[in-house]
Amino acid sequence: MPQTLDEMRKGCAKARSRMQEARNNHWAFGAFNLDDEPTLIAVAKAAKKHNAPVLVEVSQGEVDDIGLLNIRDLVDNTKDTYGIEMYVNLDHSPSVEAAKEGIEAGFEFIHIDISQANHQDSDQEIVQATKEVVEYAKLTGASVESEPHYFGGSSNLHTEKIDYDEIKKTFSTPEGAEKFVRETGIDTFAAAIGNLHGKYPVPKVLDLDLLQKIRNAIDCNISLHGGSGTPGHYFRDAVKIGVTKININSDMRVAYRNTLVKVLQDNPDEYSVSKLISKYVVDAVSEIVESKLVDFNSSGKAVIDY
Ligand SMILES: [Zn+2]
Repeated sequence: MPQTLDEMRKGCAKARSRMQEARNNHWAFGAFNLDDEPTLIAVAKAAKKHNAPVLVEVSQGEVDDIGLLNIRDLVDNTKDTYGIEMYVNLDHSPSVEAAKEGIEAGFEFIHIDISQANHQDSDQEIVQATKEVVEYAKLTGASVESEPHYFGGSSNLHTEKIDYDEIKKTFSTPEGAEKFVRETGIDTFAAAIGNLHGKYPVPKVLDLDLLQKIRNAIDCNISLHGGSGTPGHYFRDAVKIGVTKININSDMRVAYRNTLVKVLQDNPDEYSVSKLISKYVVDAVSEIVESKLVDFNSSGKAVIDY
């Protein structure tokens, strides 16, 4: 059943205050990609086991596949069934219109990513479109996240190594972050400090000194995209510095696929693939989520008030 406007406002207000608490107490929300129902269950099981607050998130591809209102209902029903603290984020929303639809569906978090969808857009166009979403989000109180330039990589398993000299050119700067936050009024700044979408054959390296400088330059929340394949100690330090949202996708997808391939091979006579997914894949993905909840220091931090 769709949420009423009052329910949306209540959910968004709680999400906002919980982000502030995360910052005050040095823990971060894991934002885990919701590819399908089994991945949602995997996140819910991990959140329950660790009594950890979580975000699940969908990009436009999942929105097209599942539907915004179905996602909202799936998350609400799962939250109630498991008795967990869970919010939903619209990740890399490609247009103002798509972001507005997410706000109207009651998503507590909206990531507007104009630059990724339109590489040729000017800084001014990106700021203008982001501001429009910030303004519209006042309808429900949804938190808006963005960044001035698109992130590299894609949420997949990559075989190439990471060319940090190239990547460094796209890092956030404290001055750029301050200007973008001031001009747009966003709630969460998505920092680029060595984080990169996807999983690579080499571990990622985060520039924590730069993160600290960005933290000092802005007063809003800070998120890290492209968390997969990052050694846990970086997350533990980033959370101490003040990051409150970390996106994980590829690590879960790799566990999902590798486990599924193996169990299909091991069970050549089983044609109920969904049965194999429930029995084996969900736990494999859930283990990945659990390890992140510990690194993000969100284990034990859930507030259940319904
Ligand atoms: Zn991302």
